[in-house]
Amino acid sequence: MKYLVTILAIVGLMSCGTDNSSSPAEKPATKLEPSTPVQKATSDTVDVVIKVGDEMKFSENRIIVEQGDVVRLKLEHTGTMPKTSMGHNWVLLKNGVNVSDFGMAAASAKDNDYIPANMQQDVIAHTKIIGGGESDEIIFQAPEEGAYEYICSFPGHYGMMKGKLVVM
Ligand code: ZN
Repeated sequence: MKYLVTILAIVGLMSCGTDNSSSPAEKPATKLEPSTPVQKATSDTVDVVIKVGDEMKFSENRIIVEQGDVVRLKLEHTGTMPKTSMGHNWVLLKNGVNVSDFGMAAASAKDNDYIPANMQQDVIAHTKIIGGGESDEIIFQAPEEGAYEYICSFPGHYGMMKGKLVVM
């Protein structure tokens, strides 16, 4: 019986020994914890899909994101009409930009994808003009808090095709 107790004691010591040796190994694991916020930062990519078709309408008239979010926006034309007659884009304007002024200037900027060359500084982000069956994806960082207007700058569309990107 004494032998057994001794053996148990040794086993106990050994297991203590392995516990001790495993605890330094745990330290790198705790060191990894600061990387958790980094993972959260990368998960702040927000996917937005806006559908358009053979009519002057965005599927979304309001998009809500948070300041600093990386917005991955996909514009999808589900119609069949070509971009020459029913082309659409998605143009996010800075605050204070007059939508009508921009829309009218854009109508004569066909060669620049309907983004007026002298008003590019008014644009936060924009897709290209797409026609039926096409899509375009852009990535941009959400600006500071506020409500920003977006439009389709294809001639005659901005009156109907508009919405707000709300940054909270
Ligand atoms: Zn349009």
